[in-house]
Amino acid sequence: MTNADIFDVVVVGGGPAGATAAADLAKRGRRVALLDRAGRIKPCGGAIPPRLIRDFAIPDELIVAKARGARMVAPSGGEVDMPIDGFVGMVDREHFDEWLRARAASTGAERRTGTLIDLAAEGEGYRLTYRAEGGETAELRTRTVVGADGANSGVARAAMPKAGRVPFVFAYHEIVRSPPPGEGSFDPARCDVYYQGRLSPDFYAWIFPHGETTSIGTGSAHKGFSLKGSVADLRRTVGLEGAETIRREGAPIPLRPLRRWDDGRGVLLVGDAAGVVAPSSGEGIYYAMASARLGADAVEAFLATGDARALREARRDFMRAHGRVFWILGLMQRIWYRNDWLRERFVSLCRDPDIQRLTWDAYMNKELVRASPLVHARIALKDLAHLLGLAGPWGRRA
Ligand SMILES: Cc1cc2nc3c(=O)[nH]c(=O)nc-3n(C[C@H](O)[C@H](O)[C@H](O)COP(=O)(O)OP(=O)(O)OC[C@H]3O[C@@H](n4cnc5c(N)ncnc54)[C@H](O)[C@@H]3O)c2cc1C
Repeated sequence: MTNADIFDVVVVGGGPAGATAAADLAKRGRRVALLDRAGRIKPCGGAIPPRLIRDFAIPDELIVAKARGARMVAPSGGEVDMPIDGFVGMVDREHFDEWLRARAASTGAERRTGTLIDLAAEGEGYRLTYRAEGGETAELRTRTVVGADGANSGVARAAMPKAGRVPFVFAYHEIVRSPPPGEGSFDPARCDVYYQGRLSPDFYAWIFPHGETTSIGTGSAHKGFSLKGSVADLRRTVGLEGAETIRREGAPIPLRPLRRWDDGRGVLLVGDAAGVVAPSSGEGIYYAMASARLGADAVEAFLATGDARALREARRDFMRAHGRVFWILGLMQRIWYRNDWLRERFVSLCRDPDIQRLTWDAYMNKELVRASPLVHARIALKDLAHLLGLAGPWGRRA
């Protein structure tokens, strides 16, 4: 084998994280292989913020629907509408992911289709064995590996067996044919979010419009909870039980970044493999791509200097940019998703225009916007009054 057969980087996994890392590194002139197993569409609600569309130059044709508002539904059935100044983009992962992989290839990454079955240290780098499409095994040799192979990462298991496991919710959704606009309560330009213990005891259920189709789903970390039963219940409640079901699928959503993303030698985890999904919301596509971009910078620094400590920068930079938001969202999930009494108060709090503005600003632009200290104090007092039961939901006394 000559040096020409050895890659600088093998990226395992061609979802949003892997495709982003592969494109960024190939653009820098690195020899990159992008290994992805073919055929499976990632189960996903497909909601993406404008910041992602901007930062990663996503063309409008991939946005199959634009949500102009969200409706939060409380355990009592009380509703709060949260209009959006702008829109949340909805993508179909079948086309979105393939478009990202094709873009990576157009920047010079070499695509390989197959499933990773073994990863072993070899010399200064690694040897990866995968089962190719025809069933035969094949090998890749590389200096560095980016593990972007999702929540059940085989790269993490092989290279970092002590990395530990992160908490996750298991999410399940059904893709149905969208009803005609105006039928029942369905609105093709609105995301509905249900905070009801019967639909999820520790997360939330959703109805996300995708143009011709709609994702109806829920998530929970409770092993005994019937996700399928919950989605059937939600479909009945909103009159979509008769809508044609196109797919039923589920997958885990990790809810906390791993403490360590690299093996100190040449392997770096990004995206779901590194646990970077926002608690409370389960939003992972933007964070997968953002962590992969920082990961590509770190791998480039490692390849340029040979100093494996450069790989640690990926996690450090990510947590510097998003750690505070993850912490706040984790706290919110622990406080407000505990029972229906608290969920009722949480949804009623969302009527506050300041809370709506801060929530949308944080989601749309991934920046915590500074409001006046008076606004923060008012929100904190309201939060506290609701938590202590001094204020009841919907303006009633508790
Ligand atoms: C039901 C559900 C709804 C969700 N809704 C939203 C939402 O609306 N908005 C949002 O932002 N996030 C959502 N998420 C989270 C989001 O889908 C993930 O955070 C995101 O896909 C992570 O991207 P990734 O590239 O890290 O991993 P993935 O998208 O999981 O990609 C991993 C890739 O690795 C490949 N792979 C895995 N193992 C191997 C192997 N052994 N060999 C080769 N290839 C392999 C897979 O084929 C896949 O292409 C949802 C998740 C679920 C489960």
